[in-house]
Amino acid sequence: MKNILIEDIPKHLGKEIVLNVWVYNFRSSGKIYFLQLRDGTGHIQGVISKSDVSPNTWQVCEKLTIESSLQVTGILKEEKRSPSGFELEIKDLKIFQIAEDYPIAKKEHGVDFLLDHRHLWLRSERQASILKIRDEIIWLMRDFFRKNKFILTDTPILTPTSCEGTTTLFSTDYFDEKAYLSQSGQLYLEALAMSLGRVYDFGPTFRAEKSKTRRHMMEFWMLDAEAAFMQHEDNLKLQEDLVVFVVNNILKNKKEELRILGRDLKFLKKVTPPFPRLKYKEAIEKLKSLGSDIKYGDDLGADDETRLTKEFDKPVFVTHYPAKIKAFYMQPDPDNKEFVLCDDLLAPEGYGEIIGGSERIWDINILENRIKEHKLPIKDFAWYLDLRRYGSVPHSGFGIGLERTVAWLCGLDHVRETIPFPRLLNRLRP
Ligand code: ATP
Repeated sequence: MKNILIEDIPKHLGKEIVLNVWVYNFRSSGKIYFLQLRDGTGHIQGVISKSDVSPNTWQVCEKLTIESSLQVTGILKEEKRSPSGFELEIKDLKIFQIAEDYPIAKKEHGVDFLLDHRHLWLRSERQASILKIRDEIIWLMRDFFRKNKFILTDTPILTPTSCEGTTTLFSTDYFDEKAYLSQSGQLYLEALAMSLGRVYDFGPTFRAEKSKTRRHMMEFWMLDAEAAFMQHEDNLKLQEDLVVFVVNNILKNKKEELRILGRDLKFLKKVTPPFPRLKYKEAIEKLKSLGSDIKYGDDLGADDETRLTKEFDKPVFVTHYPAKIKAFYMQPDPDNKEFVLCDDLLAPEGYGEIIGGSERIWDINILENRIKEHKLPIKDFAWYLDLRRYGSVPHSGFGIGLERTVAWLCGLDHVRETIPFPRLLNRLRP
């Protein structure tokens, strides 16, 4: 007899099994204990009858508290009324530890209290479901890129310069000089694309943004993809395919977690290609007609994105932003140099931007001018300019934020629940 996981119990129906578990909840009638047990892979109800166990075991049972840890031995029975479809008739239990009074009760707590107790809050069924969906999204994204012949490669976290100016960077000492925590691996990924053709990285990203919104964190995970010989149109298609692949497979593979979260699946089922597209100019007009006071030349704020996405039931691309409000490396639109070949993909239901992408400038003179116009230190970009000196090719890429994708697919109000230990404007602990 070996210890098994709750997830695997269907194979053991009618047999005696041993489970290592925590007590999620319990109730007692004086003669029978009903224990809600969890082991990380699932939940099961355990039943202990006073008449079936030794007086010693019953005494142990009476000491149990929420989150106590124990090993239970019992017979696995079918039980149609229980959510798992099974019940464990417990014959024996061994205690690892009797938990002290658990600070998180089943009643409502304020979000600050829960975030202060994040190390414990993670044990709730809801938080565990979110983390399982996060895990699945990561595997799906990797699977998608592998199927499309992209190579996973790593870009540095400690960097000497920024991708887009230093205002939102966290700095640290690097012996005698300053280093910055990476806010995107894109520039390095462009170098890797010139070696490997199609590449992606996936890692933590840091932005010292004084943004207290429901979609900004100081530390978040981003997947950047970059491909040589890929241009604007194919870049959009790749993003669309990725999002459709992830959503379809989450709907298929994570039904139970989505049920626990109470996610309304109606919207997710509508995520089919093609996604609607709006040029920046059209987006501004639409927003004005919806009552926004946005002006031509403004970036879309979080409220504008929410407003716009409520008009569509699928993700929507906003493309062709004015060059002036975008990063220095974006390729000018050949039809009108005032604009660049870029896109933001906005998730529906008010979620807003989850992807930012663009075709990159591949002509060295245009790029040099842009670096100067943006008043960036040209010597720091010498290596980046080299990429345009030796076999330069059209290339494009994008970055997708993991936490915003998780928030959207799980139907959460805020990104703070999408990462185990969120780093927010006023929160570095626990
Ligand atoms: P925003 O305008 O919403 O601040 P951005 O335009 O700065 O985002 P990009 O630089 O294009 O974002 O980054 C790519 C993706 O990374 C975004 O689409 C988003 O999913 C994610 N992202 C960016 N900043 C944050 C953040 N502070 N917290 C969580 N995710 C983020």
